[in-house]
Amino acid sequence: MDVIRLLPDSVANQIAAGEVIQRPASCLKELVENSLDAGAHTIRVLVRDAGKTLIQVTDDGSGMSVSDARMAFERHATSKIREAQDLFHLRTMGFRGEALPSICAVAQVTMTTRRESDEVGTLLEINGSQVQRQEPCQCAAGTSIQVKNLFFNVPARRRFLKSDSTELRNLITTFQHIVLVYPDRAFTFVADDEIIYDLPVGTLKQRIESVFGKSKSKLYTSQLLEIEQQTELATIRGFVGKPEAATKQAQQFFFVNGRYMRHPYFHKAVMQAYAGMLPTELLPPYFIYFDISPELIDVNVHPTKTEIKFADEQSIFPILTATIRAALGKFNIVPSIDFLGGDIEIPVSNDTMRANAKAPQIHATAGYNPFTPQHERVTPHWQELYEPLKQQVQPTSAPQQAELPHEMSEAPMHPQALAGGYISCVQDDGLILVHARRAHITILYYQLITQLQNRQGVSQQLLFPEQLTVSADEQPVLEALLPDLQHIGFELEKVAANTYEITALPSVLGNSNAEMALRAILARAGEDQRAVREDMQQHIALTLAQSAAIPMGKTLSEAEMQDLLRRLFALPSHRITPDGKTVIVWLSAEDIARRF
Ligand code: ADP
Ligand code: MG
Repeated sequence: MDVIRLLPDSVANQIAAGEVIQRPASCLKELVENSLDAGAHTIRVLVRDAGKTLIQVTDDGSGMSVSDARMAFERHATSKIREAQDLFHLRTMGFRGEALPSICAVAQVTMTTRRESDEVGTLLEINGSQVQRQEPCQCAAGTSIQVKNLFFNVPARRRFLKSDSTELRNLITTFQHIVLVYPDRAFTFVADDEIIYDLPVGTLKQRIESVFGKSKSKLYTSQLLEIEQQTELATIRGFVGKPEAATKQAQQFFFVNGRYMRHPYFHKAVMQAYAGMLPTELLPPYFIYFDISPELIDVNVHPTKTEIKFADEQSIFPILTATIRAALGKFNIVPSIDFLGGDIEIPVSNDTMRANAKAPQIHATAGYNPFTPQHERVTPHWQELYEPLKQQVQPTSAPQQAELPHEMSEAPMHPQALAGGYISCVQDDGLILVHARRAHITILYYQLITQLQNRQGVSQQLLFPEQLTVSADEQPVLEALLPDLQHIGFELEKVAANTYEITALPSVLGNSNAEMALRAILARAGEDQRAVREDMQQHIALTLAQSAAIPMGKTLSEAEMQDLLRRLFALPSHRITPDGKTVIVWLSAEDIARRF
């Protein structure tokens, strides 16, 4: 008997929905992108209970005919591409024809839609892929889609959703990613009857101001510098923060062809432009938009993916760094004039100021190539690994990252403790100095971040539970952090309105004070509640690593030092701590000779 059969559409849709629609925010993204693709000028978003009970998107776009309204919910039904070739010229947001069928497979959907030219519109009601109702209706031109009780028929998924505060934050972040690309469209966002955003049409700068500007007295955007660079590969434009705008948790956004993207590699390029201008713990805000021929990027990776592959990232990297450097340099000479909203700073530049001003400095080291793959550099000698560190001592060369190949971690080492908490390793050709506490922080950080991401924190029960009392404004921050805190090994029980009992803590913390560690995490998280998930995880890992690491100045035995160094050199990045502090200093024989 044959056993293979085609899945019914409703089942296929539910499976696909798992990929496209993971949470309320992904549903919101698909709906708003459809409205934009339909040419809407005004898009209104309304959510209830962080989108768990209702997500409604109303637009004044093209609307749909009766049969299109019905077709829109069929799998792989799309008006946006016709053949595979079209994939390489995509300029619309959607193209897979997966979103609407996926949404209606896992929710109760009502849609009204009408084309401007039609007398009557269409109302369609679908519950878990089953069409319940389709009839003519009176409605405004455009489309309005209501998605109710997301995952009502997939309890496992519903349970997987985070607390309302987390899901609402995801919704807002997703919304920000879109509105920062379309300042020429008006948007509103209402959550449980509260108007979160009411964004009029304007310039990009005005849009950034209306999204992130908080007080009337000081314009957020007066802290930003405009960048613009056209090359054959790509056009880069947008805004970057002046050095004094840097904060611990800055707004940092990349977009490519109108889509938000994450791009850790380009982030490095930006940070390189600020090298030497910022204290290590501060980050500059940036809003950077790439325009690139669609053939040169691959967005067809995954519908929810925000990491986008560029064909020629390595050539764009130095262009990006230089563009930002130039903007920062120019700003040093010419004070900025801001014409937005009447708050005009009068330029007070005069000749003496110009004479004293620093010229833009773009360091270029002949022959320096940051993109040479590390494995191509054969490094038979220990000291060569520290070439970059040597260069670092000479401030004119570009920073470079050296990675220690794994076999080097087996190299014989004879570490010696230096007073003050340093470890020295004498080699034939030089001397390596390691900051023991920072080395330990770095090791623990990577260990914790892996545990967090895999949800494999190791906990240790407390014999005597400790109490943690939080203030009213810390409470929502703590609630938002709770899932990650649990993943890392904390067990917290709410025993009163603002009081939690800590019954277990991550075992790395050993005997250190659980309450103190939690307070440190809360204090940092409270600074920016908009921070995205990964940032939260990074800062939980960093704070715990700092709480658990050996104190500065502790004397270690030779075995402990050897263990520490072996673990440090096995890390993907061991030169600096996750918050950018120096872990290792290398003095070559030449450096030493020069001192005599
Ligand atoms: P895709 O956007 O990938 O084409 P979707 O499932 O999101 O797939 O939408 C299917 C089709 O439904 C779209 O191609 C479009 O023709 C139509 N559609 C969806 N939303 C709207 C809207 N708000 N206004 C007009 N047409 C829409
Ligand atoms: Mg779509």
